[in-house]
Amino acid sequence: MRSVIIGGGVGGCAMAAALRGSAVGREVAILERRAVGAAGGMGFILMPNGVDALERIAPEIAWRSSGRTIDRVALRAACGRELSSHAIDPALCVSRERFLGLLRQAAGGARFIEGATVTGLTHRAEAGAGERGSGDGFDLAADTFASVTYTGDRGVEQLGGDAFFGCDGAASRTRALVFPEAQLAEVVVKEIVSVAHAPALAKRLGSTFHKFHDEEGGLAVGVLAESDERVVWFTQFDSRRWPGVAATAAGMAGFVAERLAGWSDEVAEACAATDFGRSHLWPTRDLPPMASLARGNLALVGDAAHACLPFTSQGANGALADAALLQELLAEVRDPRALRTALERYSAVRRPHHRRMFMEGRRLREAFLAPMRHGAPVVPLVD
Ligand SMILES: Cc1cc2nc3c(=O)[nH]c(=O)nc-3n(C[C@H](O)[C@H](O)[C@H](O)COP(=O)(O)OP(=O)(O)OC[C@H]3O[C@@H](n4cnc5c(N)ncnc54)[C@H](O)[C@@H]3O)c2cc1C
Repeated sequence: MRSVIIGGGVGGCAMAAALRGSAVGREVAILERRAVGAAGGMGFILMPNGVDALERIAPEIAWRSSGRTIDRVALRAACGRELSSHAIDPALCVSRERFLGLLRQAAGGARFIEGATVTGLTHRAEAGAGERGSGDGFDLAADTFASVTYTGDRGVEQLGGDAFFGCDGAASRTRALVFPEAQLAEVVVKEIVSVAHAPALAKRLGSTFHKFHDEEGGLAVGVLAESDERVVWFTQFDSRRWPGVAATAAGMAGFVAERLAGWSDEVAEACAATDFGRSHLWPTRDLPPMASLARGNLALVGDAAHACLPFTSQGANGALADAALLQELLAEVRDPRALRTALERYSAVRRPHHRRMFMEGRRLREAFLAPMRHGAPVVPLVD
């Protein structure tokens, strides 16, 4: 069978690796709109569920040494005073670039088509092959996708397949085509994500994820070491209170300088060592739980299926867990009917988890927006 993966980010590469050795993954093509290496150098936290999933998908890679261990979270006031400190199950802080490089290595046998933006999907019925299943109401033609349309170097092209995986991120085109009723929620919180070259600070941070909170709520900074030299840090803010932050180096640097003046030494050091030209302004949006994650021979994976708020740290981890479950469910699939059943099962198993992440994200966002006098800050991680 031929599998077509739409999007070559975390979920897409993990999916290609997960299909290795299966009949569904005999031939795998990944359509990715960006060029290789365009991912940039941000980092993120791999939680225990993400690391477990990686070890099932690609056991040949030493994932646990691919980043820096994080085993404690310190919740602190803006001035630096520690409010509480919590041991956590070891997680990893990884560089997005390095991590995607490893995932691509794991996806090795797949054909990458870069600079390919998917714009449409064609049903088998539209493609003219009107086969019908029997007995159980399964209409093979109506329920089955036959090809994707994409725009690439050579103009508009089509690519046929037997199985399709929509891994094209939070603003998924695949989801819009197949489940047009699913809509992302409004932006309430924005996050400026930055990387600082700061070896002395990285040493001081050690294996602790430090999170600093403004007393009035709606403004917080997370700081953690991603290597001996690099520190990943992010500023989360209520975008209704500060609506005008521009996604430019000057806009982000100006906001941070004004709002974080007088914050703890760690925040000041991270700020001083940051090139805001490389920072990213992330308008965080979640996706209310969907009624189904699969239709016929197509499934949504990762943010396309369950974009969640950053407070859970479950975005990339959720995508990895999706791929690991699909690996298990698709291992013995050899025909279209079994494929459809496996994808329905995937949807049924993952939906409750996605619902929980959505609710947790919302709960953590409320806690973030509330002034500290309404309660102590909460640990911003969910496993
Ligand atoms: C700044 C930032 C910091 C983050 N920090 C964390 C963190 O600490 N922990 C965590 O778990 N998560 C974090 N996330 C979220 C995490 O990156 C995502 O949840 C995760 O990457 C989801 O993987 P994905 O494959 O679903 O989507 P993505 O990794 O976004 O990949 C989607 C891919 O699809 C491609 N694509 C999109 N549309 C098309 C199209 N029409 N045709 C072809 N290709 C297309 C895109 O170019 C992209 O490569 C962060 C996200 C951002 C933006």
